[in-house]
Amino acid sequence: MARPRGQHSRSAGDPMKQAAGPRHDAANREAERRRVRLRRLQLATLAWFVSILLTGAAWALGILEVGFLEMGLLVLIVLISLLFFHLALRSGWSRRFRDPSMTLVHILFAIFIGLWIIAKAGEGRTILLTLFIMAAFFGAFQLRQREFMLVALVAVTGYTAIVVHDIATQQITTSTQVVVLELAGFATLMVWLAWFGSYMANLRRALSRRNRELHEATERLRHLAEHDELTGLPNRRRLIARLEAAAQKSSRDGSGFCIAVLDLDHFKLVNDRHGHQAGDDVLSEFARRATTVLRGADWLVRVDDTVADIGRFGGEEFLAILPDTDLSGAGLAAERLRKAMADQPFTTCDGPIECTVSIGLAEHQPGEGIHRTIARADEALYAAKSGGRNRVKTA
Ligand code: GH3
Ligand code: MG
Ligand code: MG
Repeated sequence: MARPRGQHSRSAGDPMKQAAGPRHDAANREAERRRVRLRRLQLATLAWFVSILLTGAAWALGILEVGFLEMGLLVLIVLISLLFFHLALRSGWSRRFRDPSMTLVHILFAIFIGLWIIAKAGEGRTILLTLFIMAAFFGAFQLRQREFMLVALVAVTGYTAIVVHDIATQQITTSTQVVVLELAGFATLMVWLAWFGSYMANLRRALSRRNRELHEATERLRHLAEHDELTGLPNRRRLIARLEAAAQKSSRDGSGFCIAVLDLDHFKLVNDRHGHQAGDDVLSEFARRATTVLRGADWLVRVDDTVADIGRFGGEEFLAILPDTDLSGAGLAAERLRKAMADQPFTTCDGPIECTVSIGLAEHQPGEGIHRTIARADEALYAAKSGGRNRVKTA
């Protein structure tokens, strides 16, 4: 039986562990998006404080016709809303929405507050109109065109209502032409902002889609570079990297591992008699069976997830890494592998084909280079071949 070595091999960040999967990537992307949202909310909060200062200055100068209480109420409403947006974002509550920043709600709220201030500003309103631009800019990275148009519509309609009310009640002394011109200018600006903003938002969305596609393509390439196309198993490059990692881990914590080199017997004959395609079918099924045997070997899979791994080392030669195992445990695993191939024929395009495997085993010695361990396993394999094939030999 495989004798598990010391429990100390349960180490975080173990290079023998399988690479972090797509779930890890998704969590990283979500954390990055959350950081961006928080940054944007901080900027919006800053914009709010600047706006409150400007409004306060206009009030102190007597431009705003509101009392102390009304001004205090305005500031209180803004502060409470900001608190709400911060809590909603930081607690994760707003994640239930398509846009967790709640940009549209936030901008519409800003527009309503802006309209209220402007309604009270009389002829000083043109100075405060700039605040609308600031609010609308926050949508530039988030809102869709429809939403932007809604923002522009609300702002222009509200502004028009205020102007019409003021003209009707003769609260302003400026000529009607000037007021109408101001209104036209404001409407143009808002529509332009809506168009420009949605253009920017589309650009940003296209860019992040490109980034995602690039990331996926890189991942696919990485997989291709490290796996064998026919069997889907790790290729020589990946096997060597994993062996190096296992050797490093071994020198760190004293955990041992074994290497098994597997070579199909008389495989040239299989090709010659049944054709190359049938040979390929044998290799594919060999890979599937070997993986099943190693995955099913619970006694080889340790508590810390270091699992046995097999890859295609080249041609019809495979290499298995058996972690946290000594030669007796590895011998058992190898014997199961051998039996799994010898016990039943392989299904191929040319009918069932009998094929056996010879296996050479070596245990990695402390401080030994992995190529030396592989060479010793190869020698054992050679012994298995000359000993009659379909057998396991130990270095
Ligand atoms: P032995 O028992 O001594 O290993 O005999 P063998 O015939 O298997 O010996 P050898 O290693 O010389 O032959 C390996 C053969 O495997 C030669 C090659 O044509 C074949 N082979 C290598 N890669 C592939 C492959 O991807 N597909 C197929 N169908 N055959 C392959
Ligand atoms: Mg062979
Ligand atoms: Mg060979």
